[in-house]
Amino acid sequence: MRFAVLMFRKIFRLRNMPSYAAKVRDLVFYRTEKPAPPLRLQLELASVCNLRCKFCVLSVLRREKKFMPYESVKKILDESKAGYVQLSGIGETFLHPDIARIMRYAKNGGRFVKITTNGLLITGEIAESIVDSGLDMLDVSIDTTDPALYSRIRGADFAKVINNIRTVYDCRNLRKSGLVIRAKHIYNAENIAHLPSDVEKLAELPFDEALFLWVRDIYEGSNQNGQRGEFLPILEKALQKARELKRPGMIEAVNILKETLFSGTTADKCCCEPLYAPYVTVDGDLIPCCKCAMWTLQRPENMNGLKMGNVLTDSFDAVWQSPRAAGIRRAIIENRAAVNFCGTCSKDENAVFRVINRFSRKFIYS
Ligand code: SF4
Ligand code: SF4
Repeated sequence: MRFAVLMFRKIFRLRNMPSYAAKVRDLVFYRTEKPAPPLRLQLELASVCNLRCKFCVLSVLRREKKFMPYESVKKILDESKAGYVQLSGIGETFLHPDIARIMRYAKNGGRFVKITTNGLLITGEIAESIVDSGLDMLDVSIDTTDPALYSRIRGADFAKVINNIRTVYDCRNLRKSGLVIRAKHIYNAENIAHLPSDVEKLAELPFDEALFLWVRDIYEGSNQNGQRGEFLPILEKALQKARELKRPGMIEAVNILKETLFSGTTADKCCCEPLYAPYVTVDGDLIPCCKCAMWTLQRPENMNGLKMGNVLTDSFDAVWQSPRAAGIRRAIIENRAAVNFCGTCSKDENAVFRVINRFSRKFIYS
């Protein structure tokens, strides 16, 4: 419920209405050349992580240890004018030495701010800085509620992460902040059988909501979607549990996972993310979305085709509105099947953006 209220507030906050209206205009008129500022921006603050999760690109790649400097973060936040900012990418945000200052700065601009973390570095002091900064959402990647499986997947101690999150949860309740804490689970063939018990156990843990994703969708593309009938009984059982527990957020999370696993082919879907939700790497490279970030890490040769420009060496607008960025956006929105990784990605827009996209492709752009 807290999540639903928060999302309602976020979407309908009057000050954001012009941005949403501008983005709908961009989509209707295919303004891929000079679009309005992004609605949502994802910033990769740290290139390193304290974990080596089994399914993560970082378990096979060694990255140079880097943090995006505080002044660079400020520059990008100020210039991009995005109303929704995610202060995390591939790497652990709470390793950043200036994270408390960055959270405060991002929130002082009145933005909706979210962080995704593995939760293992959250001390009492960090918990206070999270709550006091006014952060809106904290996603904690745990993948399972089974301690032994957690240890196998993430190589860490489940009791420790839950203890850390409880510290934030209690601090949030004490100070009556609006922070929403979500458990983020990335499922694959190894942990999907645990979904029904996860739904049950999460109700007892210090989380308000859950976000369930499928691994292939994130790290490999999802051209195998629609062939996962063996998982249907598990998903139905999880839905049943969520209904018994009367957790609408959990029902929604299971339904989203189900849609990903049983979605149609790429040709039936549309993606407009490069128009409204780009990603900035720790080096300042602007690319179409977070999945492209994972893809280009695994295949650096693809970076050339997806890099819109660098928002640290140039102004954000100069990159966002450049002919190069326009060409990348246009290629993905019009025919993503021809853009390597996008051709296997399961991304599909919500009903509103999908209808607008189909309308504009048929009547305006064709
Ligand atoms: S999945 Fe997240 S926590 Fe795990 S290694 Fe990758 S970046 Fe780190
Ligand atoms: S289709 Fe391409 S741009 Fe869209 S979400 Fe997938 S990888 Fe990103």
